[in-house]
Amino acid sequence: MAGIYLHIPFCKQACHYCDFHFSTSQRGREDLLDAMSMELKRRASEMQGHVVKTIYFGGGTPSLAFI
Ligand code: SF4
Repeated sequence: MAGIYLHIPFCKQACHYCDFHFSTSQRGREDLLDAMSMELKRRASEMQGHVVKTIYFGGGTPSLAFI
């Protein structure tokens, strides 16, 4: 059993209590998504024989990546 975590480090605002890695700038968003897509494709062979049970989108605010 395997799981995949995708960290989307963009937020509209900075919350003072937050310990996650994030940026309130959207600069580089497309490059990051392209890099994540590339890494998923490159590492797909590592998952052969495994069942991916969960794909977790964390952040940041993952929905900002798809606006
Ligand atoms: S990840 Fe959540 S809690 Fe942290 S700065 Fe972004 S919106 Fe705030």
